[in-house]
Amino acid sequence: MTILRARPAPLVAAVAVLAAVTAAGTALLTGPAAAAPGCRVDYTPNQWPGGFTANIKVSPGDTAVSGWTVTWTYAGDERVTNGWNATVSQSGSTVTARNMSYNGSIPAGGSADFGVQGTYGTAGGAPTGFSLNGVPCNGAGPGPTTPPPTTTPPTTAPPTTAPPTSAPPTTAPPTTAPPTTPPPSGCAGAVLCDGFENQTGSTPSGDWNVVSPDCSGAGTATVDTATAHSGSRAIRINGAAGYCNHVFVRTTKNLSGLGGVRYARIWVRHTTAQPTDHTTMITMSDAADGNRDLRLGGQNGALQWNRASDDATLPEQSPAGVAQSVPLPTNRWACLEFMVDGSAGHLRTWLDGVAVTGLTADGVPTHDIDGQWYNRTWRPQLTDLKLGWESYGGGADTLWYDDVAMGSTRIGC
Ligand code: CA
Repeated sequence: MTILRARPAPLVAAVAVLAAVTAAGTALLTGPAAAAPGCRVDYTPNQWPGGFTANIKVSPGDTAVSGWTVTWTYAGDERVTNGWNATVSQSGSTVTARNMSYNGSIPAGGSADFGVQGTYGTAGGAPTGFSLNGVPCNGAGPGPTTPPPTTTPPTTAPPTTAPPTSAPPTTAPPTTAPPTTPPPSGCAGAVLCDGFENQTGSTPSGDWNVVSPDCSGAGTATVDTATAHSGSRAIRINGAAGYCNHVFVRTTKNLSGLGGVRYARIWVRHTTAQPTDHTTMITMSDAADGNRDLRLGGQNGALQWNRASDDATLPEQSPAGVAQSVPLPTNRWACLEFMVDGSAGHLRTWLDGVAVTGLTADGVPTHDIDGQWYNRTWRPQLTDLKLGWESYGGGADTLWYDDVAMGSTRIGC
């Protein structure tokens, strides 16, 4: 992921300068600082078909602010649906983000982070016209570290935000260096965001423990430096047939802050097509179900959710049900995403960004899909995340996990 540091559209800058002249009289004559205030807005997008999130860092430069309003303009039909660490609204193609009560003050040289989530039909590339409190940003200080966006400028009217009410800063560019590394990519503020690059040995440690509940056998979990989705490390699971050959890595992160709705994004690769027999790859302990696991794996050659306490499956394992799930592809990295809403008792699943009907529990029992799932009230309270392999009959596999994230909004691939 690279930081797309949009340059202000010339038209926007021109409008802002004209506005400054109108509002501040001779301000423009005292210096050109209105067009070069030193503020920066870094917009780091993460996009999948039809949806996106973006992490946004606003840096006022060498002038502290006690409140902030950041605006930008999309060139496509992007629609922001929600945000975090900011109150976000959209009018036409222009988005306005205002600080929350707890992050309005940014000291000189400091920054604040917030994010947005949205949908689109036609992507417009990097947004333009970033401003902070009405002042165009990204026009002063160090230049972009990546090539400027090549998208066409917006065809809609430029933002008509109010001009700055205080004199523009006339001091030098920011004294702090621009970030030399981008923020963690693709995690959208997630509580858990791990590409395993901080693993130092061959045995998973630190933020992960190797676990084999009940019994252990031939299964192994190691840090692999030969196969990775990103960087140079991933978790490799050698999973053998038979329950006691199971093995998992379990996060040691405290996930309680996620609340009842949790989204996961997990990149996974495996070598062997899912067998007819029931297998599990990912499990989460459910405190509302006697700490029995909610399990994501396969059966009859396709992905399947399973509840350990009563062995209910999603989809039902009828031919019509299985046909509405999909196999996990072999020998390539696949992006697995899911959402569990504990208070509503809903479950959704995406493979490579595409929702899987057969892996959807929407609260309304549907024959072949979630009819069996709702044979009892289901309000999960998940407490952990385990990645690995477990087989209840036949079925051996070698799997890799990388770029694992869990948060309270959809993270994307
Ligand atoms: Ca990695």
